[in-house]
Amino acid sequence: MHLKPSRFNVLLDDDRLAFNSLTCALVQFNHSFQKILLNPNDSLSVHDNLLRDQMLSCGFLVPSDLNELSALRSRYLQSQSNHDTLAVTIMPTDYCNFNCFYCFQDKKSIHMSSDTANALVNFIDSNLSGVKTLKVTWFGGEPLLALNLIQSLSDSLFQLAKRHSCDYDAFIITNGYLLTDSSIQILRQCQIQAVQISLDGDERTHDSRRFLPHGGHSFNVILRNLKALLEKDFNVSCRINLDRSNLHSIPNLLDTLSRFLGSLKRKLTLSFDLILPIAHLNKWDSNLCLTMEEFSYCVFKFSTYMIELEFNIPDLYPFYPTPKNTFCAAVRQNSFLICPDGSIGKCFDCYQSIGDVFRGIAHDSTTKANLSPWLDFNPLDDPECKNCSVLPICLGGCPFFRIFRHKKLCLKWKFDLIHSLRQIFHWKGGASS
Ligand code: SF4
Ligand code: SF4
Repeated sequence: MHLKPSRFNVLLDDDRLAFNSLTCALVQFNHSFQKILLNPNDSLSVHDNLLRDQMLSCGFLVPSDLNELSALRSRYLQSQSNHDTLAVTIMPTDYCNFNCFYCFQDKKSIHMSSDTANALVNFIDSNLSGVKTLKVTWFGGEPLLALNLIQSLSDSLFQLAKRHSCDYDAFIITNGYLLTDSSIQILRQCQIQAVQISLDGDERTHDSRRFLPHGGHSFNVILRNLKALLEKDFNVSCRINLDRSNLHSIPNLLDTLSRFLGSLKRKLTLSFDLILPIAHLNKWDSNLCLTMEEFSYCVFKFSTYMIELEFNIPDLYPFYPTPKNTFCAAVRQNSFLICPDGSIGKCFDCYQSIGDVFRGIAHDSTTKANLSPWLDFNPLDDPECKNCSVLPICLGGCPFFRIFRHKKLCLKWKFDLIHSLRQIFHWKGGASS
């Protein structure tokens, strides 16, 4: 087979590190590796032949006739139209017991009615044929304010999954305030094993951002509840939303989590996220948003401190690059966000309806027009993305920004890949070629 170097190789000559953004292989290379990469079709010793095979399986070398962009395009299109998984994010309510100052939600104060819940079950039923996994995310408002509904819907959804012989997988995004012993037990009965909770800084900072409607504090209650979940073996991810006004408090937050959770901290998945400059944030100064470059620097700084405190660094964004098939579920055909009134959307930040649970998807000209930008979105058509070395680990950034803001939101890898690879290699102890 005639070979060539992959267009997605990233070489750090000083550190002798090679990374391939299509496979995410990271190795420390030697002189032979360099020689083979320059002349992959030369005849080689037995030992170097073996090395060339490894370079091929890690994606550093590819067949000369392979168009990697076309291969990536096929992977993207396949994933977009893949019907193995039906992913539904269900908002049983948009009521919330918090009044976070950066909340982007346009709350109409609706609990899902029983008619809507029944129609939702029928909608899911009619989309389950041939599906291997039904993936449910409970979201809100605050979903635990509608725990009874989660319970009854979960019962119906298990039955559906069973009838269609598909796996059932459930996850909840909650502010964590209402996680009592009894609600935790109900989550378990609802087969919800994974929980995401946000903490936005140390006690003082968090309580100034994520508070109850009349200003009541939430930090200590959430911290206690988060520990209770970890003790009961739930997969807990703690999301820390960053902007310019809470950066100073993150080391204190990490100290507190480390002290309070003790050895349980090793089971916690910590993650950082960027608060995005979305126009309908009404109570908040969008100048507080970090740029992606600033965010990258913060992740680097805070992850270094996480290591010192012996937290696990998850093998996930924003710490590790991972190969992506689509940027997010919004552009996949079989992924829906169900609002409490039964309308169906594509994305957490965009409530343009693409249908409803009563009449289905794209049932009229408006919903058809709202759906098509998501299905037509393809980052591989963009000239800058096409030539970008991190395309396979970014895939064009947030589609909502591209479609509705006409801007690119390049992922942090665009700015800090080299820096991150050095850090990752150091964390992992390295693998030599
Ligand atoms: S959005 Fe930016 S980082 Fe992502 S692939 Fe396109 S150019 Fe590269
Ligand atoms: S399009 Fe952007 S904002 Fe919407 S779900 Fe995807 S990543 Fe989130």
